Amino acid sequence: MKSRIYLSSPHMSGFEQKYIRQAFKQNWIAPIGPNVDAFEQELASELGVKHVAAVASGTAAIHLALINLGIGRDDEVVVSTFTFSATVNPVVYQGAVPVLVDSEPETWNMDPALLEQAIEDRIRKTGRKPKAIVLVHIYGMPARIREIMEIAERYDIPVVEDAAESLGSTYHGKATGTFGSMGILSFNGNKIITTSGGGALVSDNEAFIRHARFLATQARDQAPWYQHSHIGYNYRMSNVVAGIGRGQLEVLYDRVKARRRIFKWYTELFRGIRGVSFLSEPEEFFSNRWLTCITLDPAHTPVTPQGLMQAMADDNIEARPIWKPMHLQPVFADCPAFVNGTAEDIFTRGLCLPSGSNMTTEDLKRIAAVVHTVFKS
Ligand SMILES: *Cc1c(COP(=O)(O)O)cnc(C)c1O
Repeated sequence: MKSRIYLSSPHMSGFEQKYIRQAFKQNWIAPIGPNVDAFEQELASELGVKHVAAVASGTAAIHLALINLGIGRDDEVVVSTFTFSATVNPVVYQGAVPVLVDSEPETWNMDPALLEQAIEDRIRKTGRKPKAIVLVHIYGMPARIREIMEIAERYDIPVVEDAAESLGSTYHGKATGTFGSMGILSFNGNKIITTSGGGALVSDNEAFIRHARFLATQARDQAPWYQHSHIGYNYRMSNVVAGIGRGQLEVLYDRVKARRRIFKWYTELFRGIRGVSFLSEPEEFFSNRWLTCITLDPAHTPVTPQGLMQAMADDNIEARPIWKPMHLQPVFADCPAFVNGTAEDIFTRGLCLPSGSNMTTEDLKRIAAVVHTVFKS
């Protein structure tokens, strides 16, 4: 059996051990500690944002962001429909209603015109405007941030950026996650850098980050006994895990370079093959190219995403379907949705190709061989 080529597997730098050893030497295993403080500061300076709270996951970070914004029962929150379910779930944790908005075809992210339509329509139907917008930068590609922020400011609706997939990406030279009132990152195992599992909430607003830290550590009041005046969560990152993050952050830009190199390699591999398209990178958009995705045009190629995925699986290579849009998920079927067909079209015709920064030349040769075979026959 050939060795497995993964979609995107953890790629350690070797520097992680240094920080983990420190934590062990000090017996500072848990809960928070010096690695957590340092990781937060290092992330803040990397992103150019004032405050960071390291937490247990990206999902937890989104949940804390929504609590900070006072999202509660029956409030409406506008969310990109073209995303992973973890973007939307925390809206439901708060008893609020996700309002799903489709993408535009150039970046695959939230369509600004449709966003404005959604806001107008919800105001007309409910008499209230949505209480927040959760904007996703999918597969590492920045959304049309300027247009979205302009609309959000005009209606005075706060924006939370889900930058779980876009650490290392910039828009007009500024890091994704730093435009909205808060941003979130994920360090899940398949992301561009990983802590095994983890996330972060980032903001220039100190009060948001301070409150998030308080809620994430069981919301214990200042008192000589265990006293609570808020519902708390156990969402903080451990000091060992933060050590992994510090070692990973040291090589973030190598990882971005490697992912972009892989993207370029795929564009060359598919050059001259009809019916295959890639996500472009508009002027002033810089994508970390977390995953390389293609769409196949049935008018120009008989190859289907399922066919290519199966041929790869037969060679022990992992490719994955594109995110299935949230408005097509059984669990969100009843949510108001503003749809133009873009996300569904990408889902139907798209495929995520193996994009790990630790793939070898040998791995790429195997991928190329499968692609050549599939598109020849
Ligand atoms: C991974 C991911 C999340 C969730 O992050 P976790 O750390 O796994 O909780 C949220 N949104 C998007 C778009 C993601 O890809």
